[in-house]
Order: sequence, then C-alpha cells, then structure tokens
Amino acid sequence: MKKSLLNKNLFLYCGLEKEQFDNIFDKIMERNVKLVARCNIVIVILGILFFLLNMIMDTENLAAYWILVIGGVALYIYRVLYKPKKGKPAFIYCYALLATVLLFGMILSVQPKTLDMPSTSFIAFLSFLPLIVNDKPYRMGMFILIATLTYVCISINFKSGIVLRADMMNTLTFSVLGFVLYINMSNRNVKEIFYWMQAAENERIKEAAHVAEQANRAKSNFLANMSHEIRTPMNAIIGLDEMILRESGEENTKKYAADIKSAGATLMSIINDILDLSKIESGKMELVPVNYEVSSVINDIVNMTENKAEDKHLKFTMNVAEDIPSVLNGDEIRIRQVMLNIVNNAIKYTEKGGIDVDISFDRDASVLTTIVKDTGIGIKPEDKDRLFDSFQRLDATRNRNIEGTGLGLNISRQLAEMMGGSIEVESEYGKGSVFTIKLVQKVADATPMGDYSKRLAKARKEEKEYEAKLFAPNTRILVVDDNEMNIKVLRFLLKNSAIDIRSALSGAEGIEMLKRDQYDVILLDQMMPGMSGIETLQQIREQEIADGVPVIALTADAISGAREMYIEQGFTDYLSKPIIYEELEKILIEYLPASLRPEK
Ligand code: ADP
Repeated sequence: MKKSLLNKNLFLYCGLEKEQFDNIFDKIMERNVKLVARCNIVIVILGILFFLLNMIMDTENLAAYWILVIGGVALYIYRVLYKPKKGKPAFIYCYALLATVLLFGMILSVQPKTLDMPSTSFIAFLSFLPLIVNDKPYRMGMFILIATLTYVCISINFKSGIVLRADMMNTLTFSVLGFVLYINMSNRNVKEIFYWMQAAENERIKEAAHVAEQANRAKSNFLANMSHEIRTPMNAIIGLDEMILRESGEENTKKYAADIKSAGATLMSIINDILDLSKIESGKMELVPVNYEVSSVINDIVNMTENKAEDKHLKFTMNVAEDIPSVLNGDEIRIRQVMLNIVNNAIKYTEKGGIDVDISFDRDASVLTTIVKDTGIGIKPEDKDRLFDSFQRLDATRNRNIEGTGLGLNISRQLAEMMGGSIEVESEYGKGSVFTIKLVQKVADATPMGDYSKRLAKARKEEKEYEAKLFAPNTRILVVDDNEMNIKVLRFLLKNSAIDIRSALSGAEGIEMLKRDQYDVILLDQMMPGMSGIETLQQIREQEIADGVPVIALTADAISGAREMYIEQGFTDYLSKPIIYEELEKILIEYLPASLRPEK
C-alpha cells in the first residue's frame, strides 16, 4: 500500500467535509492508541516469556528482553498518563514512546559491565511499534532509521557491541509479529473508516430529515396561520353578505350576494382542503371516532348534493340498505367529507344521465360500502394512476370550467386508508365512472336503520319546523372577541332575534362584565391577545362567576376533533368561523333556555 489508509483524500472523495474527516481521523487514532496499549501488555508478556525461556536455556541474551519488558511497561504508563489531545494525538504519543524505549536502550547499552548488550531483536521491536500506532509506516520508518543509527553510533562510541549475538530467531519473530499486527491494524482501520463514514452518513441523513421536518412544520404552521388569518376577514365577508341577502330588496343585488356566498363557500372548502392535506402530510391528521347515526350522515349528503344534481337536470338516486346498523362508531366528520367529495365529483363531472349512490354495510367485515356511479365524462385508462395525486386535474381543457383544485380525491383516499378502508375506481372514458368507498366502522347500535327515505322525510319536516325560530327577547348573551368586525357581524346576524347582545374586546373585560350582570350564553373567541379563550374560561371557572352559563368557543381553527377538544377544556360547545348563520342559530336555540324563546 503506497499511501496510508487514513488518507484525507479518501474521505474527501467519499464526500466528507474536512471537519467530518478530522473527527473520524481523531476517533481512529484514539482507537489505535488504545489498541497499542493492549499490544503492550502482550509485548510485556512475550518479553517475560522470552526472558524465562532464555534463563531456562541459559543463553546470555537477556538485555533485549529487559528492554522489551521495560519498554512495554513504559508504553503502558504513557497510555495511562498521557491523554491525547484533539489534533495530533497519536503522533506525539508515538514519538514519546519511542524516545522512552530508545532512552532505556541507550542506558542499558552503555553499561557493558553490568548487563548483556541488546540483540538485534531490540531494533526489530522498535520497528514494528510505530507501524501499528498510527498507520504512517514510511514516516515512522524514517524516524526509526534515524533513531537506530543514533543508537548504533552511541553504542560504537561507547565501545559496546551492537550485534553481540545475532539472534536471528528473535528478529524474525518480531518482524513477523509486527507485520501481522500492521495488517491487522490496517484491516481494522479500513473497517473503522467505513464504520465512521457510515456514522457520518447517518448523521447527515438525520440532519437532512431534521431540516426537512422543520421545513414541513414551518409549512404546516404557515398554512394553519394563513387559514386562520383568512377565516377572520371571511367571517366579515360571509356575515355581511348574509345581511345583504336578507335585507336587500333589489333582485340583482341579491343575486350578486348569492354569488358571493357560493364563491365564499368554495374558497372556504379550498382552504379546508389545503389545511387537511398539510395535516395529512405532516402526520398530524388524527381521526376522532364518535358514535354517529348513519342516517344523519346520509341525510347531510343528500341535502348537500341533491339540489346540485337537480340544477344540472341529473337523476339522483340513493339506495340505502335497510339493514345498516343505526349507530356506527367512527370519525363522522371525515366520513361525511369522503362520501361528499365522491358524490360531488360525480355530479361535477356528469353532464347528462344521473348519479346512483348505493350504501350498504357488511356486518361480518364491519365495512361501510358506498358505491357512486355516474354517467359522466369518465376517466382515460392512462389517467387513472394520476387520479389520486394531489393537485392533479385530468382532462384540463375539458374540465376548464369546472371548479376544483385536484386535492379532493387525494385527501379522500388518504382519509379512507387511515380508516382502514380504500377508494377504488372503475371507469370508461366518455361513459361514466364507478367509485367504491370502503370504510371500516365499528357497530355501536346494531338495530337496523330501516327505510332510509322515511327517516329523511321526517328529518326534513323537523328541519322545516325549526326554520328561523330564533326569537328570544328576554335573553342576554355576551360575545368576547378582540376583533370588532366579528362582533359587528354577530350583531347583524342576530338583529331580528331580539337578543340583548353585549360585547367585550378582551377576556379581562368579559370577566368584569360577567361579574356585573347575568348572561344566558357566552360566546368566547379563542385567539385573543392577552388572555386566550381557554385562559379566560379558566378564570371564569376559578372565580366561580357565570356558573352554569353555557360557554361556546368561537374559533377560526376548523380542525377535526376541535369540538371534543374544547368540550374537554370545559366549553359547552364550539362554533367555527366564518360563522354560518344557520349554525349560530342552531347552537343558540340549543343552549338558550327554552322558556325565554317564545314563538315569533
Ligand atoms: P377536483 O377538485 O379537481 O375535483 P379531485 O381530487 O376531487 O379534484 O379530482 C381529481 C380529478 O379527477 C378531477 O380534476 C377530475 O379530472 C377527475 N375526476 C374525479 N372524479 C371524477 C368523475 N366522477 N368522473 C370523471 N373524472 C373525475
């Protein structure tokens, strides 16, 4: 081997930074020094053995073994005393070792009367030590040569014989031993190099993963903040638009307002999709299983899609198996989202014909299956693979006028998979598509749901009866929100309810007002400077004011599981922004005392 194994270039070729190389180099050196210390013990033992052997055989070649023993002990003491510093540990260590051994050799060699002269094995011994210390055989060879010559010169000068007895056996033994040790050391060095390179690489991968994770977290935080920031002005836009819709007598103005409402809803669904996707990608999406009535989910889907199909003159049929258990356990919000997305797509991408939705439940496998068939544009076989990619919209020219982001299917499939299910698609281009959603759901109440259409009719009747019933002149509510516009919108929305609405711009102000007056419901915003909503509620509870008064959390973080989270924090319920009038009304009807709500 021409060059030392610990060649800097070798590391640099492997793409290591200089600092990483130095680090690895130091570690290998430290390892080598430890190994040499162990070798020294072996050498001392060997020395003693040879010494004893020579005594038994009565040869006179004792000095070399004395030197071996003394040298080995000295090396070991050096190892213990001298802790190599960072930088050039092994070299300095090695020079120091050699100097010591040499010194002993010289002292012994200039005492011809008392001790035998060292044999050539001493020189052999000297020559293999450095080799194993630091893998620089050539440099060390030079050093040994000079050291040996000095030794020879001194010996001659002091008239002592240098090669008293040509102990060829010993020389050979030590040379072979040195050679074997050198090879062994080199192999170890190679192994060590790869080991440390691997460690450096792992470190680099870890670092890269950390950086990527941080970037991802920053992205998620940015999206969450952005969505929050957008929701706040959207609250004003949608709320005020609602007022225009309600109050304007102008047909044109009403039409514009209706368009704003629909565009607002689209914008909100895009923001929600982006937020969902970022949550899924950062692994933060959590399912919140609750017991839910299957019929209520199906009702919502029919209510939210049937009109759209009718507007496009599409036949909309819903076949719901009667034996579906009436109550299932799963993430109701996400199930609704997935089913709604597929049904909405079927309507969006169908121009004539109809949509068939078939819902059934396999009790053995506990799987809720929804098959959505449409007679729409269909999907080309070559596009099928891209269908579930994010931001992928197929047939761009044909679908130019159809609103969409290409996120829905990606989110739906990932959600379905999180629920232990799947979404499969079969399609014939130009004829239509069949989407099959399978979701694993636990059964909470196995009683069969029965005729779904009857339930729907009943629910619709109840809904009609419930319409705009909010009229509560003897009630007083407190709205705590740092954003004046939000308070204004809420006042507008509840203008006809005759409710006495009081407002506070901070948690502290709200607490003061609660101490002074009685309220029937408290609407408490979450993100406020100073005290947050949760902190304000804690204060309210600690100071035992407003006991028994329902406290509704108002928040722009529309996350799944938010309701459960707020209820856990002590809130009575939760309302997400932008506030939709129907939801506000529903929640107030639920929590305002019935006695205070006379019929209008
Ligand atoms: P988008 O917001 O564009 O609807 P999706 O992720 O829901 O996003 O759908 C991705 C693409 O898949 C759509 O742009 C459309 O090209 C295609 N697609 C989805 N559903 C259907 C369907 N029922 N029939 C034909 N093409 C569909």
